[in-house]
Amino acid sequence: MERRVVGVETEFGLAHQGRGRRGLPPDEAARYLFRPVVDWGRSSNVFIPNGSRLYLDVGSHPEYATAECDDLLDLIASDRAGELIMHDLALRAQEAMAADGLPGSVYLLKNNIDSQGNSYGSHENYLIPRTTHFRRLSTVLLPFLVTRQIIAGAGRIVPPTEDQEAHFAFSQRADHMWEGISSATTRSRPIINTRDEPHADAAVHRRLHVIVGDSSMSETTQLLRFGSTDLVLRMIESGAPLGDHELENPISAIRHISHDVTGRARVRTREGRQVTAVEIQQNLFDRARSFVARHGAHHDRVGEVLELWGRAVEAVASGDHSLIDREIDWAIKRRLIDEVAGRAGLGLGDARLDQIDFAYHDIHPDRGLFHLLVRRGRAVRLLDEARLRRAITDPPATTRAAVRGRFLSAARAHGAGHTVDWVHHKLVDRPLEAVMVKDPFAAEDPRVDTLLGRLRGELRELDDAEREAQPGPLALSERYVATSPVPPPEPPLI
Ligand code: ATP
Ligand code: MG
Ligand code: MG
Repeated sequence: MERRVVGVETEFGLAHQGRGRRGLPPDEAARYLFRPVVDWGRSSNVFIPNGSRLYLDVGSHPEYATAECDDLLDLIASDRAGELIMHDLALRAQEAMAADGLPGSVYLLKNNIDSQGNSYGSHENYLIPRTTHFRRLSTVLLPFLVTRQIIAGAGRIVPPTEDQEAHFAFSQRADHMWEGISSATTRSRPIINTRDEPHADAAVHRRLHVIVGDSSMSETTQLLRFGSTDLVLRMIESGAPLGDHELENPISAIRHISHDVTGRARVRTREGRQVTAVEIQQNLFDRARSFVARHGAHHDRVGEVLELWGRAVEAVASGDHSLIDREIDWAIKRRLIDEVAGRAGLGLGDARLDQIDFAYHDIHPDRGLFHLLVRRGRAVRLLDEARLRRAITDPPATTRAAVRGRFLSAARAHGAGHTVDWVHHKLVDRPLEAVMVKDPFAAEDPRVDTLLGRLRGELRELDDAEREAQPGPLALSERYVATSPVPPPEPPLI
């Protein structure tokens, strides 16, 4: 397979801090947050014209799932667009709350643990051929994912317990995974979820559902996280020999590795060898580099992915984290925390440093510490502003998301009742003409065009007033552009 469809789902942490009174509990704040979504789509589970999905389940972790992307930068742009859309919703929620006599601030965090220790996810979806052996996934992909935190973790301060001092760990999610591979997502929380819902032709494809990743703030971390995983999958699919790194106990290994930022924690393989995360990553990186040298690069960012991958492994192996402290979330965050701790003479157990850890993930472009570091040149960005803004409204042009985006925009512009999901396109008035687009690479579909053509024919019969009463396709995001804020002075770090 040359191209691969990938999508990422992000659950956000949500909090409301009241001004002069208690803040709203998260489930009530979530209802405010999704009010414009419900007004817009008459549901708290909607697909929007950029091809992605906005979703509020029971509970209080709003979710954004990117459109299907077959290009790394499109994927990163779609995910970042989700942050901007969520931020816009947060501003609107804040206004609505204030109008109801509940002034305060809404916080949306793109992290994976709240202050009560509850965990929420960042799920990756990779299209793989149905023929991929699950045995290969557990011998190669699982050890790769267990150790991937050293190159792509978001980092966190682990609070002190009776038998452990406060310390810095690679990963947010590692302590919250309970199984290697399984079909349940909530009860047992596996690293790889095997629930078989391909959103594609099930005879040809599977959708590999990876539950283990930390949410990434940094675009370069995302490039490495998705880019390296795609390369490992590619090697697995090619049938190339990849060694046997199968771990005796992936769950104790993932935790053990997370809590030792020297990368030297030893874990046992099924064969009884003792290995470190650095060794596994170095081995797979070396194989990936030779694989690309033999087969050529399959996209124009492969060189960057490999360069950063090699550098990240070296940074951990050598202990010289400055090699990646502008590109990889855990290292960017650790540098900030070390500096603040040093300047203010704080120990890692100090609650003020926890605040910095949380604030790093605040998606507010002016308030969030990651964004502040970007402005100060201490974290690298990949996307230019124009591409990011486009991703708020436009779907990726090279996958099925383009069909969905066109369908949604046209149906909304014409005021036609409709339903869509990843595969289906239906006009409520023409249920028998519903179109299924099973091929996630299909950026065009003549059947959908025909359906929309009929709609356009009918539209001529609508009078002008009726047409004007319909909400435009960009109602959700136009407002974001209009309210683009002037950055306030940068806040002190403590
Ligand atoms: P839920 O979160 O409700 O349990 P889910 O995990 O099945 O559902 P969604 O939240 O709907 O997933 O998100 C699906 C993700 O998978 C999206 O990011 C989407 O772009 C991506 N996706 C859709 N079809 C495919 C496919 N055929 N292969 C890979 N990824 C896909
Ligand atoms: Mg989901
Ligand atoms: Mg999911």
